[in-house]
Amino acid sequence: MNGNIERLPVVEMFYSLQGEGCHCGKAAFFVRLGGCDVHCEFCDSKSTWDARRFPLVPTNEIVDRVLASGADTVIVTGGEPLTHNLDNLCDLLKESGVARFLETSGSRPFSGEWDWVCVSPKPASPPPAENLQPANELKVIIKYPSDFDFAEAVAASTSDCLLFLQPEWSVAPTMIPVIVDYVKQNPQWILSLQMHKYMEIP
Ligand code: SF4
Repeated sequence: MNGNIERLPVVEMFYSLQGEGCHCGKAAFFVRLGGCDVHCEFCDSKSTWDARRFPLVPTNEIVDRVLASGADTVIVTGGEPLTHNLDNLCDLLKESGVARFLETSGSRPFSGEWDWVCVSPKPASPPPAENLQPANELKVIIKYPSDFDFAEAVAASTSDCLLFLQPEWSVAPTMIPVIVDYVKQNPQWILSLQMHKYMEIP
C-alpha cells in the first residue's frame, strides 16, 4: 500500500445504496468529507460546511473501512469534497481495486483519479468550463423555473455527459410535473429523484 498517508476531515462513512442519478439503486460505500464554501440556500448538509468540526482521518483508515464493508465502489461526497486534495485517497483506493466515484459541485480544481464524476453545479458558485470536462454525469437541482436556464447554460460546457434534472426536495411535489414536461420537450435530459429519501435510507 502507498506509504504516503494523508488525513481528511470525515463527516461520516456508511455503506448504502446510491440514491440519485445514473447509479441510483447500486450499492456503494459513502465517504462524506467536511468543508464547503458554496453555501447553497437549499443545502441539506449545512452541518458539513466547516471542515474544522470533523476528525482528520488517515486515508489508509478510510480505505480499511471501505474494504471491511465489502463494497466494490466508493462515492466521495460532501460538503464539497474537492475542498481537499484527493490524490492520495484515490491512489490508495485504486491500489485496493475499489471503484472511485466523485460527487462535486465543480467549484474547485480537480484532484484524484476517478472512475465516475457527477458534477452538480450550483448557481451560488458556477463551475468554470474546465471543471465540467471530467463530468460523466451532470445533475442540476431544480428549485425555481430559472434553474432550467442555468441547467442549459452549464450543459453547454459538457461533452459526452449524461444530463439529469433533480427536483429540490422541499419543492419536489410541485416541481416533478414541471420537470416531466420539460424532459418530454427536451429528451436529452433525464429526471433524477432522491430515491434514498423516499426509501428513508442514508
Ligand atoms: Fe451544500 Fe453541496 Fe451546496 Fe455545498 S455545494 S452548500 S454541500 S448543496
